[in-house]
Amino acid sequence: MNLSDQLSLTAKDNLSKTAYVFNGEETNYQTLEGSVTKFASSLKELGYQKGDHIALVVGNTPHFIIGMYGALRLGLKVIPVNPIYTADEIAYIINNGDVKGVITLDVLMEKFEKMDKLIPNVKHYIVGETSPDYDVNQSELNERAFSFTKLVHAGSLELERPTLNDDETAVILYTSGTTGKPKGAMLTHKNLYSNAKDVAEYLQIGANDRVIAALPMFHVFCLTVALNAPLVSGATVLVVPKFSPEAVFEITKEHHATVFAGVPTMYNYLLQYPNEEEKNFSSIRLCISGGASMPVALLEKFEEHFDVRVSEGYGLSEASPVTAFNPLDRPRKAGSIGTNIVNVENKVVDENGQELPRGEVGELIVRGPNVMKGYYKMPEETNASIKDGWLYTGDMARQDEDGYFYIVDRKKDLILVGGYNVYPREVEEVLYSHEKISEVAVIGVPDPNLGEAVVAFVVATDESVSEEDLFKLSKEKLAKYKVPSEIRFLDELPKNTTGKILRRSLKEQLATQ
Ligand code: AMP
Repeated sequence: MNLSDQLSLTAKDNLSKTAYVFNGEETNYQTLEGSVTKFASSLKELGYQKGDHIALVVGNTPHFIIGMYGALRLGLKVIPVNPIYTADEIAYIINNGDVKGVITLDVLMEKFEKMDKLIPNVKHYIVGETSPDYDVNQSELNERAFSFTKLVHAGSLELERPTLNDDETAVILYTSGTTGKPKGAMLTHKNLYSNAKDVAEYLQIGANDRVIAALPMFHVFCLTVALNAPLVSGATVLVVPKFSPEAVFEITKEHHATVFAGVPTMYNYLLQYPNEEEKNFSSIRLCISGGASMPVALLEKFEEHFDVRVSEGYGLSEASPVTAFNPLDRPRKAGSIGTNIVNVENKVVDENGQELPRGEVGELIVRGPNVMKGYYKMPEETNASIKDGWLYTGDMARQDEDGYFYIVDRKKDLILVGGYNVYPREVEEVLYSHEKISEVAVIGVPDPNLGEAVVAFVVATDESVSEEDLFKLSKEKLAKYKVPSEIRFLDELPKNTTGKILRRSLKEQLATQ
């Protein structure tokens, strides 16, 4: 089974049910299914065939949904790309990914017109219209530019579907990594389908759910949890074009949302939102957190304020992404990523790949139908990260007596202070526990005496909190070598488009000072 065929089955059972809502407009499964087939048939007319690579450079609009499912229906390999990347970053992915065509939006065409010479192998631009005034013929690339809407309208509902084998690549997701160029994680039809199904089963996402998609769809968290899992279940996806607390509360109220998925910084923005009247999550049955560790203090404050359950999970692009979640039929544990989801195994191992006893910290490795085939055109990197069928995540973790896993931190973010290990997360949790601190990032900086020293960056909700207060709190709660040597106040912390806090860019800022 694969996502495209599953969509046809889901649509058959739910013809008039709303598949997604965008800008207040509802589109039912029958229309979505028809648009997907018609778009696929138009791609075929343009000369695309099974195995061709197509990039999807769009934001959270229906073009993403129809574009991805349409391309998959024809057996194309889809490469989602963050639209706000620079021209060089986009060109790298398009060239490395052997992309033949680009699906994008009118608002991004100026960027592509300027960078077209950097991507000489791109044959077509398929342009989604977000404004009724846009006309592809006005583009200087007009001979190669096609209207998304016209392709959907002109397409046929009679499409000979290619056979999609489980182990064929469906999507190539470029992950930024910490060093070097991004790597393309090849996710197969089985990877994506099984993770969407398993997440839906584990989190009990069903046809009555209305799931908010406020994370960027090009990121695997949104792709599987807020898009594919609802669509394989006959649920409704509530598309938020760009995250803001106003947009989330509004769509919740208008469409009685039942599930919200976000990274921890989004939970922070929702909690800090000042308009108490609009700040309502009463229809939400489940909040899903992932992508970065959820500070315990934030999770508890959020649950108390909104009277809702927050379930933290864990995943990574290479695992399509989800491997663990706090189960719904057992108590959720704050600070934990939960237990193995259906069909997936997580294990904590030492440097030799040997499983460690519960309680001990080691690298988290994962195995299951969701684990990628490898990195595109990078066999060495593939062999370094997948051994004996286990994916090495680069995250340090421990498991408790009940089988719940805890992410200690990323292996590479470990700070070594005079030979002692300090994981930033541990220090961050303490600073987050101060009621007036809303964001924290802790990094290691070179220190002539100790090797590295701990520096904390914080965002306060008002000016009454001082550096001394935070030092005092740290000294009370942390061993001496873990106490930050410096605490800096910022108005906001640097984040990527998914909302993850970028410790790396804080390091770079400090290094250039
Ligand atoms: P990405 O491939 O962009 O999805 O990033 C995956 C990485 O995000 C993982 O390797 C972890 O370092 C981090 N991550 C995801 N979920 C969590 C979580 N619940 N707690 C801590 N780190 C997480």
